[in-house]
Amino acid sequence: MVEEGKQRVILKEGQFTMPSTPGEQPRLIGSRCRACGEYFFPKQVACANCLKQDMEEVPLSPRGKLYSYTIVRQRPPVSRTRGRYRRCRSSLAGHPHSR
Ligand SMILES: [Zn+2]
Repeated sequence: MVEEGKQRVILKEGQFTMPSTPGEQPRLIGSRCRACGEYFFPKQVACANCLKQDMEEVPLSPRGKLYSYTIVRQRPPVSRTRGRYRRCRSSLAGHPHSR
């Protein structure tokens, strides 16, 4: 989110909540696998842990611990993902199984 003057602008729709009051913080929106409880950000349609497609959209904790961070500059061989994207591994408070 970027503030332009006093107007807030969402950079990417659907990835986090927009605060409705001044003291409220934005929350990342992820997905949770109903089968195994794994959390993901950004949202996934299938679980990378158990491969089930029983996912639900959930607001993620605003607090957590970042374990690793990298910028990938090479496109995977069979992927629609463009090169240069970020990957990180973190654990979010209240969501012990998160990716
Ligand atoms: Zn799962």
